[in-house]
Amino acid sequence: MNVACLDLEGVLTPEIWIAFAQHSGVDGLRATTRDEPDYHVLMRRRLQLLHEHGYRLADVQQVVAELVPLPGAVEFLRWLRERFQTVIVSDTFYEFAMPLMRQLDYPTLLCHRLEVDEHGAITGYRLRQEDAKREVVRGLQALKFRVTAAGDSYNDTRMLEQADAGFLFNPPDTLAAAFPQFRITRNFRELSDAFAACRRDFDR
Ligand SMILES: [Mg+2]
Repeated sequence: MNVACLDLEGVLTPEIWIAFAQHSGVDGLRATTRDEPDYHVLMRRRLQLLHEHGYRLADVQQVVAELVPLPGAVEFLRWLRERFQTVIVSDTFYEFAMPLMRQLDYPTLLCHRLEVDEHGAITGYRLRQEDAKREVVRGLQALKFRVTAAGDSYNDTRMLEQADAGFLFNPPDTLAAAFPQFRITRNFRELSDAFAACRRDFDR
């Protein structure tokens, strides 16, 4: 039995923090897991910037509500779900992601939670568990599933390493160079082909 684990931002949807950086004009919020390998460093900086500029959860949610999936993402995900049990594995937060999940027809999403105070300010974040993307794959493998994974950023590499097969999707050049063991896909056609080939290999 095959399960697909798919990253969300940068694969199926735009980067939420970049969208908010554009909307708010706070340039420091443009950094993503594509730029900063250490997720905690990245998140602490983001929350500090939100705090400094007085932005609250609702401000980010308002921007997310305007986002749409990347061109071809809805069709790709539908294609994939017909062939693999599919789980979206993301380092985003449930409080942010739901408007996008609605447009993707609510696939299963495994991600994290934000801590929000009584005024709606984001005061912290709670990872579901450390090394969460990799642990999802390990958990599924413990249930005897074969896992094929795809993502675009540093925070996906542990998931790809753990998976039975893993692909990078449109990665930054530095990441592609650092992880030559992962097949690189540049568009949904190539990503579909990679998944389809995996399914054939596994079924053999
Ligand atoms: Mg990503």
